[in-house]
Amino acid sequence: MAILTILEFPDPRLRTRAVPVEVVDDKLNALIDDMFETMYAAPGIGLAASQVDVHKRLLVADVSADQSEPHALINPVILEKDGVIVTEEGCLSVPGYYAEVERAEHIRLRFVGRDGEDVEMEASGLLGVCFQHEIDHLDGKLFVDYLSEAKRQRIRKRLVRDKRHQVSAAIM
Ligand code: ZN
Repeated sequence: MAILTILEFPDPRLRTRAVPVEVVDDKLNALIDDMFETMYAAPGIGLAASQVDVHKRLLVADVSADQSEPHALINPVILEKDGVIVTEEGCLSVPGYYAEVERAEHIRLRFVGRDGEDVEMEASGLLGVCFQHEIDHLDGKLFVDYLSEAKRQRIRKRLVRDKRHQVSAAIM
């Protein structure tokens, strides 16, 4: 296992649209293990392959407090969205910036699992938000893209150094 280097905004590679994974093999699973290790070490609750400069449709997430609920999603597709939830989001690729983002409260999605199996799953609340944030990464989109230019400017000026604030935000 290895800790991977996380690309940081405004690195143009973060704008790359990831391509579908074609084969789920040992090499891909080794990458998934490295992504989990990198995410837990950061620490964050989600990490997309795009963030470690691998432009394949793959993400990992774990919103538990004790690293007990790891999810690895290969070629994820959102099938349905409903409701609205506002979360204070942070991003491992935009360190020090936090902002409230509106997303679907509940999603249903399909993906391929680590063993190559097809999976359909529902996710609500923070896990659903995390999946939406990571799938955006696979499309080259960052959470700051949802904010108005004025708000982006304010966030740039308000680089958050308050540790309590960092703990309360969801960083993915
Ligand atoms: Zn992110």
